[in-house]
Parts: sequence; structure tokens; C-alpha cells
Amino acid sequence: MTPLHEATIDEDVLRPTHLSVDLGRLAANYRAIAAHAGRPVMPILKANAYGHGLVRVGQLMAELGAPYLGVAYLEEGIRLRRAGVDTPILVLGGILGDQIPKFIEHDLTLAASSLDKLDAIEQCAAAAGKRAKVHLKIDTGMERIGVHYYSAESLLEASLRDTHVEVEGIFSHFANADEPDLAHARLQLERFEEVLSFYDKRSLPTPMRHMANSAAVARLPESHLDLVRPGILLYGVYPSEHVPHTVPVEPALTWHSRVVYFKVVKPGHPVSYGSTWESDHLVRVVTVPVGYGDGYPRRMSGSAEVLLHGKRYPVVGRICMDQVMVNIEWDSAYNGDEVLLLGGDGANRLTVEELAAWAGTIPYEILTGINTRVPRVYVGDP
Ligand SMILES: *Cc1c(COP(=O)(O)O)cnc(C)c1O
Repeated sequence: MTPLHEATIDEDVLRPTHLSVDLGRLAANYRAIAAHAGRPVMPILKANAYGHGLVRVGQLMAELGAPYLGVAYLEEGIRLRRAGVDTPILVLGGILGDQIPKFIEHDLTLAASSLDKLDAIEQCAAAAGKRAKVHLKIDTGMERIGVHYYSAESLLEASLRDTHVEVEGIFSHFANADEPDLAHARLQLERFEEVLSFYDKRSLPTPMRHMANSAAVARLPESHLDLVRPGILLYGVYPSEHVPHTVPVEPALTWHSRVVYFKVVKPGHPVSYGSTWESDHLVRVVTVPVGYGDGYPRRMSGSAEVLLHGKRYPVVGRICMDQVMVNIEWDSAYNGDEVLLLGGDGANRLTVEELAAWAGTIPYEILTGINTRVPRVYVGDP
């Protein structure tokens, strides 16, 4: 009998809608960031590697020699371990007590974000007869997880007493490094440095310090410290329009589909749910098998464009769950013709920034929103 997962893969290959992920580009982006920062790089792989595929991208980064990988959740770390990735992995997000044994079992590094959490880690590690690796998480102005910078000292002191916890790193996270004004980011960095002076004052070795996300990698070199943590930049996309393009990175994703239907639509015959669009003249309309159920946002209805034969055409009517309609006026197209939803070459290129603008969101949400229903195909030579 054919195992189920193989059948699924065969079917995936037949799906006209897929993402191609250029591993050569991702590798070049990783190297460009490493060269720019002059520091070790912790590639951030959360949310399915920003849509690019957690396992394959994780394997690639490990092959490229990344000293550390970063994910948001425990399950993401376990998936990488099960795929044979043995590089150190830091789980950046918050943890619950009952998850701690799993971290220890899979040799995943914990973010210790409070005294209580550190105590729980110490107890679990002692019970398992092992040492847990942690990075202390300091909140310098995000009010998310992490001990406040103004009360961090007790956490740092406790970590020195613990015997089953190895404090390998200490980190913080910027709230506004992608905004026009860097004043708050600089204040956060100052607060972090104040916390770090704890070690110098006691003549103790400072654990690995890290704070820089993509925006800070690009524009705040004083924040690079011992290691940088780029996410979106690794995928060739800048965090916002306010971040200068100081690192030569390029997008690695192309979202492909194909024409599955062709029809001529008369005036007075509106297209799609809600009948929100109709033409005042005879037009040719093609149907493409992609929709909001794939992460092609319905909010883009009325503004999205696609590329067909290297030319832009508008998506008309509402975006459906699994299909969209495209007005090609009186041009020609045939069943099977390639349609690009994102990516492309030269002047004819649809950027993730454009999709984000059409959907009223940010590039991060577009990339991470591309559903796992869309197969990822890996191309290019790392
Ligand atoms: C997501 C995340 C990053 C990477 O952010 P980008 O803006 O994509 O570079 C870095 N550090 C932490 C803690 C994060 O949650």
C-alpha cells in the first residue's frame, strides 16, 4: 500500500498553484546579512519560515553554518529536530510549565522571561538530571514577554544560583526599529546595556547578547552586539519603507498558478460573489485556482493584479476561497497558461509590498499567511 504522505505529495505536484522558493537567493541573503553585520546570524524561522517552509529552510541555514536558529514555538523546534537539524535552536516565545520537559528532551533552548519561569526550568531540569540551556529575556520597551529592564536584576541573580540552568544568552527585542524615528529604539538599547552592566560590575562573563531584528540589522549597527536575529530580511524583504536598503538582499518567492477557465463576459453580467464588479463592454475573463483559502487575501478584492504573459491584469469581483477571476480585456489566454501572483522578473514583478498595500496589511502577514495548502517547490543552487 502507498503510504498516505506519498499520495499527498503526488497530488501536490499536480496542483497548478504552488510557491517556488529559490534556495540560492536565500543562501545569498544569509551571506549578505552575515557580511553586513560582521556577526554570527541567527536566522528566524518562525511561522513556516515566513511562509518559505520551515524544514527545508532550516536545513539550508544549518548547511550554511548558522550557529543558532530561532523559532517562536516549541512545536517548530521539535519539527526541526525530527527533520534531523541538530543546530542549537532558541524558542523565542513564551512557555508554559508543562512544555519544559519537551524542551529538555529535544535539546531546545528556552527563553527564560521571569523568575517563576526560570524556577520552573531549574526544577524540571533537576528532575530530569540534565542542564537546560536558556537565554534570559529582558523587556526594554515592548511590554510583551520578558522581565522588565528595571526589575531584571533579581532574574540575573537567580540565574547565577541555579545549578541545572546554563545561561547561554541574554536578549531583548525592539518595538520600533522600523519606524522613521529611532529614538525609542535607542532608548531600548540603552536600557538593555544598563541591564548587561550587571555582569561587568561583578566581573562575570557576559552571556551572548542579542537584540537586532531585521530593521536593526539594516540601520542600527550599535545594536548588533554578539549575534543578530534577522527574520524578514533573510527572505529578501525589508521590514518597512522607512528602513534604508543597506543590505543587498532579494526576494526568494514566486507564487505560480495557471489559467483553468476562459470565458467571454457580457456587459450587465457581474462577476463573482456579491456581484460587485461588471464590465460596460465585452471582455475576456479567465479563472485562476487560488483564493483566500490559500492565503490570497480577500481584502485585495478590487485592487489585486496578476501577471499573465508578462503583463499585469486586474483581479475582478470578489476573491473566492479557491478561485479568482481576471479581466484580460480582449487579449488572448489559454487553459494552462502560467499566471504569477507574486514575484516575476524585471519591470514585470509583483512585490510582496504591493500585495500588502492591496490587502491593507504588512508584508509579514502576506508571507506568513500563505497557507500550507500551497505546495512549496525548491529551486536554485545554494
Ligand atoms: C520575529 C522576531 C525576530 C525577527 O523579526 P524581523 O522583523 O522579521 O527581522 C527577531 N526576534 C524576535 C524575538 C522575534 O520575535
